[in-house]
Formats: sequence, C-alpha cells, structure tokens
Amino acid sequence: MGNSKENEAIGVKKRGTIKQTDEEWKKQLEPEAYYVLRHKGTERPFVNNKYYAHKEKGKYYCAGCGNLLFTSDKKFDSGTGWPSYYDVYSDESITTKTDKSLGMERTEVLCARCEGHLGHVFDDGPKPTGKRYCINSAAMDFKRDEQKEKDKGE
Ligand SMILES: [Zn+2]
Repeated sequence: MGNSKENEAIGVKKRGTIKQTDEEWKKQLEPEAYYVLRHKGTERPFVNNKYYAHKEKGKYYCAGCGNLLFTSDKKFDSGTGWPSYYDVYSDESITTKTDKSLGMERTEVLCARCEGHLGHVFDDGPKPTGKRYCINSAAMDFKRDEQKEKDKGE
C-alpha cells in the first residue's frame, strides 16, 4: 500500500524548503504557473480557469514542488471564478503573509515548502472554519483519487 509511485508521478521532492533561482523556476514551470507562483500573478477567473468548476474527488498539489495543499472534500463553489477551499490539507501545506499591495490589506497564501504564491485567504468562508482560500488553478496540479469501491448514490 505504499504510495511511492504516486509521489514519483507528481514529482515530489524531499521535505523541507526548496530554494531555487528565478531562472531555475522559469525553466521548470509552465509559463502560467511560473507567473503565479514566482511573481505573485493572478490568473483570470471563470474563463479557462482549470479548477474553478472542477468537481472530481482528489487532491491538489503545488505545481512548483508537489506539496499536498488541498483536497476536494474541502472545496466549495465561492462564486468567484477561482477554486476555493474552506481548509488546507495540513499544517505543512501552506504559510501565510500579510500582503499590502493594491492598496488593500490581504492575507497571502504561500506553499510552505517552496514559498510559491498560491492566492489569498479571506474570512468570509463557510463553516466550520469560516475561511475562504482563494487559489490560482495554475499554481496547482490535481490528482484524482483512485476509486476502489463503486460510488454509491449519484
Ligand atoms: Zn510548493
């Protein structure tokens, strides 16, 4: 029941903070992922937004380093056009920072392992956390849960 194969597939690296130069990231990442993760870019909502309306069961990993960030069971439709979650996978998934750009004070969400920019977190989410993690699809890779048992209902 090991999951080493799964880890290989998504390119998980060793635990701990990953330090790479901007040039190295640029080579490694897709242009959109590079723009979001390394230059705090924001992708467009709704149109062509990969994971906004994505409803498959599975896990969302950092597109930069493969760190497990979010799971589909904590995803909800926020109506914003970006994938939104009310909680993170674990304490090791993300770190936050105060962001005072654009004349607002927001809380930036970064990958805890590679410090890539993921999005922002707001306090208007649903229960039980009241949090809304508003994340750029380009910053994540999705992997579907393998279904061993047949889904009941639906
Ligand atoms: Zn990362």
